[in-house]
Amino acid sequence: MPRERFLVFGAPLIEEPEIQEVVDCLRSGWLGTGPRVARFEEMFRAFKGTRDSIAVSSCTAALHLSLEALGVGPGDEVILPALTFAATSNAVIHAGGTPVFVDVDPRTMNIDPAAIEAAITGRTRAVIVVHFAGRPCEMDEILAVTTAHGLDVVEDCAHAIEAEYHGRPTGTLGRLGCFSFYVTKNILTGEGGMITCDEPDLGGRLRVLALHGMSRDAWHRFGDEGFVHYDIVDAGYKYNMTDLQAALGIHQLPRIHRYWERRAAIDARYRDALKDLPLTLPLDAAPETRHAHHLFPIQVDVDVAGIGRDAFISRMHRAGIGLGVHYRALHLHRYYRERFGYRPGALPAAEGIGDRTVSLPLSPRMTDRDVDDVIEAARATLASAPAGG
Ligand SMILES: *Cc1c(COP(=O)(O)O)cnc(C)c1O
Repeated sequence: MPRERFLVFGAPLIEEPEIQEVVDCLRSGWLGTGPRVARFEEMFRAFKGTRDSIAVSSCTAALHLSLEALGVGPGDEVILPALTFAATSNAVIHAGGTPVFVDVDPRTMNIDPAAIEAAITGRTRAVIVVHFAGRPCEMDEILAVTTAHGLDVVEDCAHAIEAEYHGRPTGTLGRLGCFSFYVTKNILTGEGGMITCDEPDLGGRLRVLALHGMSRDAWHRFGDEGFVHYDIVDAGYKYNMTDLQAALGIHQLPRIHRYWERRAAIDARYRDALKDLPLTLPLDAAPETRHAHHLFPIQVDVDVAGIGRDAFISRMHRAGIGLGVHYRALHLHRYYRERFGYRPGALPAAEGIGDRTVSLPLSPRMTDRDVDDVIEAARATLASAPAGG
């Protein structure tokens, strides 16, 4: 029997304090980049333990700015995994560089360190790693390769705000870390992003590039410290976060651990309740790491389950359960095939996952009843499939 109310995939949990803070922000008249952004940046900086943290309008903006600030431009190649969201590779193109897709490890779903090494050419400038689904990448192996070749590492931490690798937080492992506070992410500001940075000069440059290339930001210019002229020192972007967005973030961030615990509990429940089904479940978290539990990607193989991924999604949808697909392999999307000449079969692990993967809902907003409904619908869907083989 379908649920009464459709379970929307990635529905956000927004609580009263941030609603009140948004109202207070509106009443204050300061909607642009101001005191709430400064507070959110300071809170995030303390959360990550970095020297600087720069709030921006999205993780896409964070990735683009990071590559610009590191000097990636025309003729430069940037290596990244084929199993990621389009923003990761589009940012390379926005910076004028060339994305070079490489394969992932079929078990961890993260970029394969050996594939990075194999893809390095004389034009390679940087590597973007994506901590997929919240699982930190194999950073020891990756950094051994990138250090040996003098390459910068940018971490796409959109799935992995609270993840840690061998005691070190994500966003502090490479040269720059990029975070997303999009509605479906582990904490949200509606739209929003953050760059973590340990180098004062680079942080200063990112801040200038994020706001038109102005030498001082608007908050300092119009504050009570006296009028100061700005100078345009670069052709910067309009990538600043606003106080309306930060009003959400300053209340969401202190709850990040509570939300994580809830998602970790749902993850554990799914593992236990689905382990006898003809599905591939995601790997358990690796030792000495903290998994951010952003996604719960299962794989539905028609030869094993008797039903393909897309049919599984349709049936779950009819049962009232919304699902996500993270992701169909990016190099096979039309733009990348046509512009860079990728062909099916080039990156088999990413393509195989892309054909079989589907993400179950994993949100702190879900009740135990919601979780049971997902499990029951998955069991019923697979039980009604023709026998595997
Ligand atoms: C969501 C996401 C992004 C983009 O984040 P925005 O804040 O929406 O720009 C980038 N990379 C990955 C892996 C994502 O999941």
